Amino acid sequence: MEFLKKELSNLIQHNLYRRMNTMNDSQTSRTIVNGKKCILLSSNNYLGLTGHPELISAAKDAISLWGTGAGGSRLTTGNFRLHEELEEAIAHFKNTESAVVFNTGYMANIGTITALTGKEDIIFSDELNHASIIDGCRLSRAKTVIYPHKKIGALEKLLQQASGYRRILIVTDGVFSMDGDLAPLPRLVELSEKYNALLMVDDAHATGVLGDRGAGSVNHFGLEGKISIQMGTLSKAIGSAGGYVAGSRDLIDYLRNKARSFIFSTSLPPSVIAAALAALRVMQKNPQLREKLHLNAQYLRSGLKQMGFTILAEESPVIPVLIGDADKTVQMAQHLFDLGVFAPGIRPPTVPQGTSRVRVTVMATHTRDDLDQALAAFEQAGQMLGIIQ
Ligand SMILES: *Cc1c(COP(=O)(O)O)cnc(C)c1O
Repeated sequence: MEFLKKELSNLIQHNLYRRMNTMNDSQTSRTIVNGKKCILLSSNNYLGLTGHPELISAAKDAISLWGTGAGGSRLTTGNFRLHEELEEAIAHFKNTESAVVFNTGYMANIGTITALTGKEDIIFSDELNHASIIDGCRLSRAKTVIYPHKKIGALEKLLQQASGYRRILIVTDGVFSMDGDLAPLPRLVELSEKYNALLMVDDAHATGVLGDRGAGSVNHFGLEGKISIQMGTLSKAIGSAGGYVAGSRDLIDYLRNKARSFIFSTSLPPSVIAAALAALRVMQKNPQLREKLHLNAQYLRSGLKQMGFTILAEESPVIPVLIGDADKTVQMAQHLFDLGVFAPGIRPPTVPQGTSRVRVTVMATHTRDDLDQALAAFEQAGQMLGIIQ
């Protein structure tokens, strides 16, 4: 096992070694990271629901009633009435005929893509798609063509060249996780119809965040009924864990029978399902949470821009603050942390050379005071490093 040490020191040498930060409090706007109190500007807990009393009591009640584990996969002994209720609630929320819950968003993507495509098929995948989509494409053994980020013209040329395949799948993030920008869904729908392709949208960062009902990017663009496969996660704005796919009754029935990551894994424990169900109720009762989230994002973005920072996209609560140089980005994140703000620096290979950034996410639970303090830290750190005047 000598190779392990070698590989690890290789990573360290190339500045690619990853260390984990230790959280010592709930995912609230202020938390404790590596023993230090700071403002949390990097959680995907967009609506602050992980600490919501209704979710907590729903999870506790579920444990009291049904225990801590599910005991089996959905197709054997792990299918509680609660799982079915959650799937019905998701279908209602997404305005689709049906929905299926996977154990994670990651598993939803690999299970769905591998069930729908095989060697005879071709997949078109946006170059900035999430790793779980990339892995699903690889596992499927379908021919995978990566198209330039959001470039519809380039995608159409590639589609024109694709012939002799059984099925065509176009797959995209709804909101891109590192850039915070939106996929051009109306144009993708046109292409999918013109070229008879399946269209799959990953709404991990849009669920609970975008659309007048918070139902995601498809809801945001008014494209309900036009996109056959809507995937998302219950681990971000929903504040629990799990992934889902929403679509037609046939699609969901097919996935339950064919998606290996659904079939061969013990289902989520009742407490996790109950928390997700409670989150859907809380979101519907409290649209002001989503409004507050967007107001907070707007406030932080405009403050950063006024200071002279470059924001790469302004379409979602994911706020990528461009630094450019990779080392400077690491220093920026470190200065911010020293000043009591936790926001990670993102470098190549996660993002292209020269586009290193501090990736900020806001939550509905940030107060004006939290955001003002964060802005002051950005100003001080940015000036210290000569990123802003
Ligand atoms: C987080 C994320 C996933 C994975 O979801 P998990 O529930 O965390 O496994 C999939 N796709 C995108 C775009 C994501 O951001």
